Amino acid sequence: MNAPIRSIRGMNDILPEDIHVWQLLESAAESVFAAHGFEQIRVPLLEKTGVFTRAIGSATDVVSKEMYSFDDRNGESLSLRPEGTAGVVRAALQNGLLYGPVRRLWYGGAMFRYERPQKGRSRQFHQLGAELFGAPGADADAEILALGEQLWSRLGLTGLRLELNTLGNSEERATYRDRLYEFLTAHRADLDEQTRERVERNPLRVLDSKDPAVQALLEDAPLLKDHLGEESRGHFDQLRRYLDRLGIEYHVNPRLVRGLDYYCHTVFEWITGDLGAQGTVCAGGRYDNLVELQGGNPWPGIGFAMGEERLVELLRQKTGIEPPPVHVYLVAVGENSTASALELAYDLRAGIPGLRLLVNLNGGSFKTQFKRADRSGASLALVLGEEEIQNGQVAVKFLRRKEQQLTLERDETGDWIRDNIVSI
Ligand code: ATP
Ligand code: MG
Repeated sequence: MNAPIRSIRGMNDILPEDIHVWQLLESAAESVFAAHGFEQIRVPLLEKTGVFTRAIGSATDVVSKEMYSFDDRNGESLSLRPEGTAGVVRAALQNGLLYGPVRRLWYGGAMFRYERPQKGRSRQFHQLGAELFGAPGADADAEILALGEQLWSRLGLTGLRLELNTLGNSEERATYRDRLYEFLTAHRADLDEQTRERVERNPLRVLDSKDPAVQALLEDAPLLKDHLGEESRGHFDQLRRYLDRLGIEYHVNPRLVRGLDYYCHTVFEWITGDLGAQGTVCAGGRYDNLVELQGGNPWPGIGFAMGEERLVELLRQKTGIEPPPVHVYLVAVGENSTASALELAYDLRAGIPGLRLLVNLNGGSFKTQFKRADRSGASLALVLGEEEIQNGQVAVKFLRRKEQQLTLERDETGDWIRDNIVSI
């Protein structure tokens, strides 16, 4: 016999026992997206590799070492999406969604990065993201941040810290990058091998190094905010005034740069202290040059992506999130009782939206079926025995409270369950 095949490292199964937390997160997100006028878009998991290399930038970790790329049977290079924004921009351009009124889009689903699997980091992971096109002002930035805040509060997640920074426009960013490069190469001798390599590939990325020695050295590094023009400073100040007005707390972190190349002006992250090293649950920023990088005429955009695995873990740490209980377990014993049970179950489900009813399968004695009923977590067993079937009745047995068994007419069973059991 063959040994069973196991899943790919870093690609995890999400099991039924956890799924209610995912569903809670996703339905809260859907409703908050809708409240802000965001419409869902679904794009392929697989794109031509250029969609990502152009957008994300070949100097980034994502493109240089994390992508799942392969040649398809025609010899064309394809990649599994490592993030959502590039594909959404590709789709928006291709389908004429840009260059008109403001577009608010959201997406969700699996992303793929070849990283070292650890807590909060896997090779297949899931994101929910929002993208807002056609609004260059700080009001759009504020709206995106407000959306995030609303979602955390809807989920009861307190204690997320919003960090904010501005990268300026692309010229300011490029000038700063040169200054920082000069500073870092002047201190080359004090840098470890990995950081030296980063300096050459993507000097801005050195700013968010986790190494305390590098952080100490950066104390004297030139600051991005000293290289911003009046317009960029004005944009950031305006955003801060909006956030103050909304009562959204934030912390300016001048070292926050983000991993992807396409960001400009506002960048931000929500961070938790409750997940250990991988504490960023949502990250994003403005990407006014991305549409042009993807081959379109310039068009502004801003967005974010949240890591569902990390948010699910946070939600799980909170108490009180339980899977929705089974309402009814339908017990049936005796000749012809199975047909009656299937019919009653069918009618009840049709008549009571939201009813969760398990019908007993595989037969069994009363004792066996009640054991199954108890294990199912149902609050109530409906019982069809020979006598009930003959009289057109249904017996009700409470499984979780001490209450007398009662008998209902079959025709009134639906109304009784609706009034007494199902509170959706
Ligand atoms: P990190 O610094 O943690 O690698 P990143 O900058 O690469 O994050 P983004 O590309 O901004 O991450 O993705 C947005 C969010 O998606 C992250 O904040 C995180 O919550 C989640 N995320 C990113 N990569 C992974 C992964 N490999 N496994 C699980 N979640 C991830
Ligand atoms: Mg990463």
